[in-house]
Amino acid sequence: MQRDLVIYSGGLDSTVLLAKVKAANPEVKAMHFSYGQKHSTSECQAALKVCTQLNVFMQIIELPFAQWGFKSALLEHGEAIPTGDYDEESLKKTVVPFRNGIMISIAAGIVASQGGGTVHIGAHAGDHAIYPDCRGAFLHSMQQAVGEGTAEKVALVRPFVAASKSAIVKLGVELGAPMKLSYSCYKGGEIHCGECATCRERKQAFKDADVTDNTEYEK
Ligand SMILES: [Zn+2]
Repeated sequence: MQRDLVIYSGGLDSTVLLAKVKAANPEVKAMHFSYGQKHSTSECQAALKVCTQLNVFMQIIELPFAQWGFKSALLEHGEAIPTGDYDEESLKKTVVPFRNGIMISIAAGIVASQGGGTVHIGAHAGDHAIYPDCRGAFLHSMQQAVGEGTAEKVALVRPFVAASKSAIVKLGVELGAPMKLSYSCYKGGEIHCGECATCRERKQAFKDADVTDNTEYEK
C-alpha cells in the first residue's frame, strides 16, 4: 500500500498540498504539529475543518517548544508578532529554529514505524529568504538524511520548493482545495487580522494569482 503523510499546518500552502496528495492517494494522512504557537488554536481548528472536508485523518503531535527553551515571536510568551510588511527584519522574529527539521524527523520516524512511505512538506519559494529550513538545499539534505537514516528508505517530497505563493493559489483553484477554510494569521484571532506579515502575504498571493480571496479579514 502506498503510504503518504502530509505535514499539515492548516495554512494555505499545506492545504493545497494536502488536496494535491489526496487527489493521487485517497488514503493520505495529515500530521499537525502543536508547538505552542500563538495561533495554535485557530490554526488547529482550521486544519481539522479542512481534513473533515477532504475526509483525511489528522494526527496531532504536541511539542512544547517554549518549555524546552525555544525562542520566537511566534511562540506563546515570545515577543509581539510584528505587523507591517512581509519584510526581512520583522519576519526574522517569527523564525522557530529548525522547526521543519524537527517536524520532518518526527514524521519520517512515524512513517518508518508503519513500514515506510513518503513525507510531503509544503515549504515554498517565498519562505526561503528568512527561514533557513525552508530552502531547497536544506530540504534536499533532509531528503537524503531520512532516506539514509531509515531502513525503510522514507522519501521526502517538497513540490512547492520552487513555486511562488500565487502559483500555489492557482493550483489550489485547479484542485478545488478548500483554501477558504485554511488559516494563515500569526496573531491567532478568530478571523484573519489582515495586517500581520502572513496575512499580507496571503492577500498578495490571491491578488497576484487573480483569484477572488474569500478570506474574512479584520482589516
Ligand atoms: Zn494576521
